[in-house]
Amino acid sequence: MKTTNSNQAFQRAQMSIPGGVNSPVRAYKSVGLSPLFIQSASGSKITDIDGNEYIDYVGSWGPMILGHAYPEVIEAVRAAAQSGLSFGAPTNLEIDLAELIKSMMPNIEMVRMVNSGTEATMSAIRLARGFTKRDKIIKFSGCYHGHADHLLVKAGSGALTFGSPDSPGVPEAFAQETLIAKYNDLENVKSLIDSYSGEIAAIIIEPVAGNMGVITPEAGFLQGLRSICDLEGILLIFDEVMTGFRVAKGGAQELFHIVPDLTTLGKIIGGGLPVGAYGGRMDIMQQISPSGSIYQAGTLSGNPMAMTAGIATLNEINKPGFYEDLVGNTTWLVNEIKDILSKASVPHSISQVGAMFGFFFVDGEVKSFEEAIQSDTKLFARFFKEMLINGVYIAPSAFEASFVSSAHSESDLEKTRDMFKKSLEKVLT
Ligand SMILES: *Cc1c(COP(=O)(O)O)cnc(C)c1O
Repeated sequence: MKTTNSNQAFQRAQMSIPGGVNSPVRAYKSVGLSPLFIQSASGSKITDIDGNEYIDYVGSWGPMILGHAYPEVIEAVRAAAQSGLSFGAPTNLEIDLAELIKSMMPNIEMVRMVNSGTEATMSAIRLARGFTKRDKIIKFSGCYHGHADHLLVKAGSGALTFGSPDSPGVPEAFAQETLIAKYNDLENVKSLIDSYSGEIAAIIIEPVAGNMGVITPEAGFLQGLRSICDLEGILLIFDEVMTGFRVAKGGAQELFHIVPDLTTLGKIIGGGLPVGAYGGRMDIMQQISPSGSIYQAGTLSGNPMAMTAGIATLNEINKPGFYEDLVGNTTWLVNEIKDILSKASVPHSISQVGAMFGFFFVDGEVKSFEEAIQSDTKLFARFFKEMLINGVYIAPSAFEASFVSSAHSESDLEKTRDMFKKSLEKVLT
């Protein structure tokens, strides 16, 4: 049976896939719609099975920085597939991608490939715990680091010190090893560390938060974390699964001149295929099995398909001028949107770092999760729907980032601006 419209497909999907989707946010629950089922995508455009085309700012949630079906990437993957899909044995491709990552992110001295961002952060935490021989970690409310048990925790309220699980099935005992701090609040971090001195293995953070909308680190915040970590023998983990190769060629660590001990990667380095990676200081990374005793493994890790797509993607973005153009285009669009939002005199907060941006319908500037959740999600839901009607696909949640790719043309950006204005006018009247 072939389903030719998204509503039918969603009905059908729900009979055999929980909630009809293989990752929850795809179900459009927070905007009260039923999801688009996708037929194909090319460049900046994505087409659903109903035959509608949209300018895409989701980009598969970040990986598609070159746009969809980028010819060089597709050709490289096609050629590699002819030589076999997976060997479970080392290849030159893995060395090539590791060296490419190291050259673009010099704080990474060694890197281990895995199959998703979740696996990368989970493994980095195990490594940090094994290396420091401590159990507790600090994460920030609103930061997402994949769905591993000890990371699926954020404070229910600012008053909570211990984490409580976000999901049934996460043992309370695991969650209690995760301490929750408020983003952009150094004093909060210090007080946690005072209370648990000598027990904290790592601080993990999205150096630009992108999973609660886009929230930028305030001046001195990341530097402050670095200093605290140095003082206390805590490892600083930058989760750059989203920001790596997105906010700048060398990720947020290059942009803000901070040297994390470990970095987690994913999304862009797989060029659209399933991949993740974690890397950093050589003395730490060498504690991983088989050079060290901290175990981590994967049947498909470093497989030739994902490596090839990653290499082809990074080679493109490594070309001179790539980020200047991409960031220039993003800045242009964000400035236009700022202008529209101001003129509409709707309360809002908007931020951009490199080729990602986000906005909230809210009073005052958003600096943490606690402020992000004050935003008007009902207005966002109506706005999202209007944007779809007008042919622009942004993430179906008020707490997600938008991504600009190098495939977005001047006319795409102008149309987006016009449709943003039209959609906003519609929902405000
Ligand atoms: C997407 C994301 C992850 C999880 O990656 P998956 O590949 O979905 O498992 C982890 N951390 C951050 C910052 C992310 O944006």
